[in-house]
Amino acid sequence: MVEKHTIFLLLGSNIHPRTVYLKKAIEFIDNSLGEIISISSLYESEPWGFEASVAFLNRVVCLESSFEPLEILKRTQEIERLLGRTTKTNGVYVSRTLDIDLLFFDDEIIDLPELTVPHAQIANRRFTLIPLAEVDPAKIHPGLNRTCRQLLDDCTDSSKVWKYKEKQVYAL
Ligand code: ADP
Ligand code: MG
Repeated sequence: MVEKHTIFLLLGSNIHPRTVYLKKAIEFIDNSLGEIISISSLYESEPWGFEASVAFLNRVVCLESSFEPLEILKRTQEIERLLGRTTKTNGVYVSRTLDIDLLFFDDEIIDLPELTVPHAQIANRRFTLIPLAEVDPAKIHPGLNRTCRQLLDDCTDSSKVWKYKEKQVYAL
């Protein structure tokens, strides 16, 4: 039997149409990564670490996959590329059609030049912790030995995160 891994991904977009990029990303994940188990609500957040006029739209996806961590990274980067992402230049953050971060891979701790798991910034970012705590509040961060709910309660990030509301379009 093939071993299944439980994986948490954070999707983010701050180039319109953001909902379309996230929807397409979920289709690609479903087709090329594994079986989606749960998806958080959509959240908006102010850009973190750089100036941009469009807020980020984020959501966390939990899936089961038989792929190993580097293969997951390769495939998520391929999805970013397919959706037209331009890469970060000189360590400076830029707007992106789609960003996929690998948050957790089972309870593994991975420290490779191209891959850090759990993702290094989980505990510092409310825009990650809020959807994560919605999907699995009891999930324990294997490096910090605290649940996602506890990490959110203790997080000192003051940047704004709010539930996304689809704009109502009224027929005239
Ligand atoms: P950020 O997600 O912090 O905005 P980028 O997506 O531009 O930054 O960074 C991508 C780089 O981060 C990739 O080259 C990838 O190898 C590396 N990386 C390290 N750990 C992870 C992880 N857990 N998930 C996604 N990318 C990671
Ligand atoms: Mg990323």
